[in-house]
Amino acid sequence: MARVKTPAPAPAPQSTECPTCKGSGQVSRTVRVGSKHRVVGQQAGLCLTCLGSGDAPAE
Ligand SMILES: [Zn+2]
Repeated sequence: MARVKTPAPAPAPQSTECPTCKGSGQVSRTVRVGSKHRVVGQQAGLCLTCLGSGDAPAE
């Protein structure tokens, strides 16, 4: 009777957070208005690198 090998433990999932938004899924964008592009503040926007998931995109 063959011995059953203990399966190797699965590698721990790497914490690959998005470098752009630091895993938050959102980035602050500068809001500009007018023809002179006057800065009126910042607004949270969806991170286009991870599309809001907060995870680093697969290479
Ligand atoms: Zn991101």
